[in-house]
Amino acid sequence: MTVTVETMKNITLEDLIALGEFDCACGKKHAPGVARVIIEKGAVKSLPALLEEIGAKKPFLLSGHDSFAAAGEAVCSVLEEAGFPYTKYVFPVSPVRPTEYTVGSALMHFDYSCDAIIGIGSGVINDTGKMLARATGMKYIIVATAPSMDGFVSGTSSMDRDGLKTSIYSTAAWGVIGDLDILCNAPMHLLRAGVGDMLAKITSLMEWKLAKIIVGEDYCEATALLVERALNQVMDQSKKLLERDPNAVRAVMEGLLIAGIGMNFAGVSRPASGMEHYFSHIWDMRALAFEDAKFEQHGIQAGLGTLYTLMAYEAFLNGNYRPEWERAEQFVESFSLADWNRQLLAFIGPGAEAMIEGENREHKYDLEKHKARFAVIEENWDAILETIRTLPPAAEIKALMESIGFPTSASVIGYTNEQVKTTFTMTKDIRDKYVGTRLFWDLGILQEITEEAFQM
Ligand SMILES: [Zn+2]
Ligand SMILES: [Zn+2]
Repeated sequence: MTVTVETMKNITLEDLIALGEFDCACGKKHAPGVARVIIEKGAVKSLPALLEEIGAKKPFLLSGHDSFAAAGEAVCSVLEEAGFPYTKYVFPVSPVRPTEYTVGSALMHFDYSCDAIIGIGSGVINDTGKMLARATGMKYIIVATAPSMDGFVSGTSSMDRDGLKTSIYSTAAWGVIGDLDILCNAPMHLLRAGVGDMLAKITSLMEWKLAKIIVGEDYCEATALLVERALNQVMDQSKKLLERDPNAVRAVMEGLLIAGIGMNFAGVSRPASGMEHYFSHIWDMRALAFEDAKFEQHGIQAGLGTLYTLMAYEAFLNGNYRPEWERAEQFVESFSLADWNRQLLAFIGPGAEAMIEGENREHKYDLEKHKARFAVIEENWDAILETIRTLPPAAEIKALMESIGFPTSASVIGYTNEQVKTTFTMTKDIRDKYVGTRLFWDLGILQEITEEAFQM
């Protein structure tokens, strides 16, 4: 059976996972990358059945202080009642940072008489649990304590290695337990973060399409629709989040899982991560490099990045720009890569070295390449505008964020307006993805957009 856009119009998360590997109308084979997902009240009670299914006799539990307080007891008593022995390791430090020391500590406390790993937590615990699963070759189940980010089912972990943010291959969760009794009691800050990581899909999905038009990137309509549906579900339910309504919390958890599955389908992070995430990456790198630089939950930063990204595209639309070769040529010819690299290093710190290295391979600033892209942009101008016009007004998303107490300015992490502008201009250099700032650079209007978008 070939799965089409039609299939994705009303498929449930359960049926999506049951598809297993399938042929998609986009011409590729996709697989969800996760075998079991249980989201319901009392879902923790399913743990023994899941362990039996993978033939595990003794799981190793990995958790942090707060997350163990939230769900540890429930997990332990379910295992004890079902007659499963276990070994547990709760990190003695709080907060747990995603570093080589954390992974080392998990590995050195690992009990090799265990035959499966159960993570109890979300962000960092999950990233570490996936690293431990890769190192030991064991199956991994995560008991989520908060729907705070979309990395539950991804096969990579976001880690700080040698003081630098890196994405490292790890083992995706085989099973995800989203117990609504636990998730509904998660700190409100983490629930908001989950919404923020979902709002990011507004801009990432649009930019995926933009990249298809401008640089011919692979695009899967079925995957895009699936993630868009999950996003709409979260936006519809968001007003009930402050009341910790189980349907609202379920929408966020399901949405994050679907976004993760969408990335597995696409084989790249495109459906779930675009320019808005690059704001977050830059702030994370600065926090590692400079003692006075603060940072927030990933999803909070991604949500702020989404708002800024929407503001930038809005400034672009309001400016009624046209592709003008003279302006673009003048702009790119006056651009000095050496100067720019110095600015990157000064603002971002050592993390910028990887960005500079990336450009050495990619040569996006090459004048011939720019000329070719400009021609494509000019030829597809109407389609580009039409795509960008699908974005909602920034004010609408800002209002939604305010309604759930979500911060709407990076001043919460100490950033001035000027620093937000600088962050924005540097988003084009994070990875090799074609994002909005690259389009504005190609058109020679990056400075204008920066000034117009962020008059705060
Ligand atoms: Zn596809
Ligand atoms: Zn994210």
